[in-house]
Amino acid sequence: MQPCHNCQTVIDEYILDKRLEPLRDLTVDDFGLCADCVTIVADACVECGGAVYVPDGESETPDFCPACRADRIERTGHDPGWHRDSASA
Ligand SMILES: [Zn+2]
Ligand SMILES: [Zn+2]
Repeated sequence: MQPCHNCQTVIDEYILDKRLEPLRDLTVDDFGLCADCVTIVADACVECGGAVYVPDGESETPDFCPACRADRIERTGHDPGWHRDSASA
């Protein structure tokens, strides 16, 4: 058991795993945050239509889910960030 980085509550891995369910490739270990401090937005990824994870400090919903972002980095060799470049779209 580890405490949440944000609010210091002990992380309930069962609840967090449930919350992360739409993000198949992410697990409790990737976060260090409790379910209350993790923000998941369903159906928001512009690539796969899956759920996206809103990182700490981001106020806008990302355009890419973590899996599609990682995909892009692999394919193009550069990190697109969380948001689609509207100029090139
Ligand atoms: Zn928390
Ligand atoms: Zn995606």
